Amino acid sequence: MSTTRRPQLQYLHEAIEDLKTRHLYFRLKVLEGEQKSVANYDGKEVINLSSNNYLGLTTHPKLRRAAIDATRKFGVGSGAVRTIAGTMKMHMDLEEQIARFKQVEACVVFQSGFVANAGTVSAILGKEDLIISDELNHASIIDGARLSKATIKVFKHKDIADCERILKETENWNGKKLLITDGVFSMDGGIANLPALCDLAERYNCIMMVDDAHASGVLGSRGRGTIDHLGCHGRVDIQVGTLSKAIGSIGGYVCGSRDLIEFLYQRARPFLFSTSHPPSVTATCQAAFALLDSAAGDRLVKKLWSNTKFFKRQLKKLGFNTGKSETPITPIMVGDAEKAFQFSRELFSEGLFVVALGFPTVPEGKARLRTIVTATHKRSDLERALEIIERVGKRLAIV
Ligand SMILES: *Cc1c(COP(=O)(O)O)cnc(C)c1O
Repeated sequence: MSTTRRPQLQYLHEAIEDLKTRHLYFRLKVLEGEQKSVANYDGKEVINLSSNNYLGLTTHPKLRRAAIDATRKFGVGSGAVRTIAGTMKMHMDLEEQIARFKQVEACVVFQSGFVANAGTVSAILGKEDLIISDELNHASIIDGARLSKATIKVFKHKDIADCERILKETENWNGKKLLITDGVFSMDGGIANLPALCDLAERYNCIMMVDDAHASGVLGSRGRGTIDHLGCHGRVDIQVGTLSKAIGSIGGYVCGSRDLIEFLYQRARPFLFSTSHPPSVTATCQAAFALLDSAAGDRLVKKLWSNTKFFKRQLKKLGFNTGKSETPITPIMVGDAEKAFQFSRELFSEGLFVVALGFPTVPEGKARLRTIVTATHKRSDLERALEIIERVGKRLAIV
């Protein structure tokens, strides 16, 4: 292997060195074996509070069997983009199944949640349009907004008054207006105030769009999401979800009216220019939604919430500041980034995997750990995790 560095890319090397000196460089933690509630990272068995595997579906026997059966029957790839030769019957079936689950007219599946957002926002808006976006919305919404070339105005996180201020200032806007929010915010675990945002969207004539990546399979009846949880059926034009978190596989989807989905089939660039999912992925997702819609799925969602409530209550009892979380995403506020990273490192060496988030992922001075419990954590896993957090937290004078 050649080790010469061509001068053209020297600036990248310098950028990496700079990250290292500023302690912003991260090393990938490598998982050996399965993605589970207790897993092996970097050769060490740890309790895993860092995945988005809310319901433990990454290793569910029914999903595993569905993937294997589909591979046997249909092979390993779809061979083309959806609009040319790569639409399999199972792709259509999954879309219908998700639409039924979400209680909407139609659905389109994308290769990931990221491209579902980016591909949709950029397809439905143009440079004469306006996007009103929560400041903590996901990166894929921001990228989609930029690709659309629309004007972007950002309101303060979950601040309805600030959102209305922007809508008042732009009341006479000539183009279309899109009001967009995450359903659940991934850094602090808060839930968007959807009823109030839907009111604003109606009053100021905006298209209403919700990215429910962290809510699908988590909130609402059988995990139907924030729209169901907050009673907003029929008030949200575009619902985005992911197949990569609670659903346990990979992909994203957009739900809404038949016209919306027909239009995205014609114009969403990742749908037209990137190959569709292999049979194993689609079959896995079909099995996942079937499971969610059953008594077994209901039990998993309930277990997720009983674990969440237990874990949050105990953290508070120990004196930790868990911020404003309302979901299985529970931050442990630390403040100083250096200290948050040290906290995370020491937890790991004692057998607990929890990520630390610092600037620029979260605002400066608001560094934190982020925990995510799942339905498959045993009560004894959580008790042991709390014991480790207490011990290390006291040692570092965080409590
Ligand atoms: C994870 C996430 C996405 C991206 O989903 P992927 O399927 O992983 O690409 C989009 N939006 C939000 C809010 C997310 O948390």
